[in-house]
Amino acid sequence: MSPIQDQKRMETPEIIAGHDAERTAASCAAFGVSEAEFGELRRRAAAAKATAYCPYSQFRVGATLLARDGSFISGANVENAAYPVGTCAERVAFGAAVTSGFRDFRAVAVSTDISPPASPCGMCRQFIREFCSLDTPIIMFDKNEDYVVLRLKQVSSLLSILLAGNSFDVKLLPMSFGPDQLPRPGAPGAV
Ligand SMILES: [Zn+2]
Repeated sequence: MSPIQDQKRMETPEIIAGHDAERTAASCAAFGVSEAEFGELRRRAAAAKATAYCPYSQFRVGATLLARDGSFISGANVENAAYPVGTCAERVAFGAAVTSGFRDFRAVAVSTDISPPASPCGMCRQFIREFCSLDTPIIMFDKNEDYVVLRLKQVSSLLSILLAGNSFDVKLLPMSFGPDQLPRPGAPGAV
């Protein structure tokens, strides 16, 4: 394999077949999610798509969060006639979770009707960053329930999935900014 091919292989997240039990078991072990929890994330994220309100884009997205205590919280995209007012599935799910008292999460699953799978938008990555460690797995299911899983911090080339043939080096959340970067109340620089 040439250096360029090798670099490309490393940059392109692998799409794992949903029916590949062996690979899925390995993914679960690597990301600290039980196989039962993984199955629930897949099922619930796909089911959440049915609750989407997306008359403008017709693009259904479901998201399910796995909280530290094993609870699952789901959401779907909610659009608006004023397009920018619409909200993504991930933020709907986190809003529901946070206002239900959850603050600590072990995994995020997102499901769409396309293939290859879609990744959370930039705004949602920042939103996830507020509540999740950079090691949190983001599991992205496609229409066939095949999936890509990356840690929030992980270097990836998600755009190269969407723009086949190009090899953009895109980080999922480079130089991320989170609550731990803000001064604590009373600390120097705090208002
Ligand atoms: Zn989003």
